[in-house]
Amino acid sequence: MQAFTKHIFRRIALAPSPFFAFSSKKDLYELLGVPRNASQNDIKKAYYGLAKKYHPDANPSKDAKEKFAEINNAYETLSDENKRRVYDQVGMTGDEQQQAGAQDPFAAYSSFFRQGARGGRAQDFEFDESIFGDFASFFNMGAEGERTLKGADIHVQLEVSFMDSVQGSQQTIQFEKVGTCTTCNGTKCKPGTAPGRCTNCGGRGSINYRQGSMTIQMACSKCRGTGISIQNPCTSCKGMGIQKQSTTETLNIPKGIADGQNLRITGKGNVGENGGKSGDLIVKVSVKPDPYYKRDGYDLITNTYISIAQAVLGDTIKVKTLNGDKQVSIKPGCQDGEKMRLSGLGINKLAPNQNQKGDQVLNFKIQIPTKLSDKQREIFQELAKLEKTQSQDHVSQQQDGVFDKVKNVFHK
Ligand SMILES: [Zn+2]
Ligand SMILES: [Zn+2]
Repeated sequence: MQAFTKHIFRRIALAPSPFFAFSSKKDLYELLGVPRNASQNDIKKAYYGLAKKYHPDANPSKDAKEKFAEINNAYETLSDENKRRVYDQVGMTGDEQQQAGAQDPFAAYSSFFRQGARGGRAQDFEFDESIFGDFASFFNMGAEGERTLKGADIHVQLEVSFMDSVQGSQQTIQFEKVGTCTTCNGTKCKPGTAPGRCTNCGGRGSINYRQGSMTIQMACSKCRGTGISIQNPCTSCKGMGIQKQSTTETLNIPKGIADGQNLRITGKGNVGENGGKSGDLIVKVSVKPDPYYKRDGYDLITNTYISIAQAVLGDTIKVKTLNGDKQVSIKPGCQDGEKMRLSGLGINKLAPNQNQKGDQVLNFKIQIPTKLSDKQREIFQELAKLEKTQSQDHVSQQQDGVFDKVKNVFHK
């Protein structure tokens, strides 16, 4: 059953009544009794005092309801710096700014008290002065009502291998969540029993009463708007309909997910209260590093080790890629640190670009041998001799150049 939550003001606000019309005509600062340069703290304090005084549960006078709506409206506008600025400039309240016309005065009120104003308090509320010693706890009593509450999101961590992250995988995870009670299936009743009709409201969940020309509907205080009364509550969930339980979920890890990214699985978090929407499951993925592949965006960076001869003369070699070994040609004169891009052999992109892939980037590293065979030593020595004569020619040419300059300096 849909809980009737917002009680009288929802009804009044939805009706095209002149109820709110006056609010824009009265000065919002005057309504809260604060100067135009009041700080947010002053505004909050003033609102706190007035809300306490005029809350319709506490103040039975007719005017209190109007006044309460007005101060809520004023607070809603002035507590929001953006709305306040607009109001200061053009005199429009938050309602008028939103063009909503059906502003719920409890919105400001709820956000102010965070959990406040859940479930209606009925006209048969017994006023007790002492309750006001702690305003917050007074409104938390109202919070025990049957309002549908969205379940909380659940955050879990999942570590996957590098290959699973680039090739996609299925992972089953286990975690604790608030789920529907398995004993009563969420009915809140002891198995074999059924809920009865609320005797106070006859099962309607609400009670109407007339206020001048208006009919005002309020949530039934006995059943808190549900219309039902449970004589035999389920013992495993204590009549809550929900309970903590261990659950498993199979996740599809998409190709291309990167370390630190979140997967959000809608509706797999904690079950909502009183039929409220379930929260989401948020999985933070951490990817184990791979010894060969490094990731840069959607590109794969790999080191390709080649010999001096291969670097000098060029060669055709096999390189490991995600699509198996690929032949690549090293051109003669390849330098250490030179890069080669293998287009489309990188990581699959995530949605909405799931049809695209990054590249694999080969980073050539020339391996300098540390142990030589006699033959190799001979060849390198031969090479060294050759280089010596070549480089001396080369250096002397350079030096000539330098000496020329020096000579020029001295001859000046
Ligand atoms: Zn149960
Ligand atoms: Zn009832």
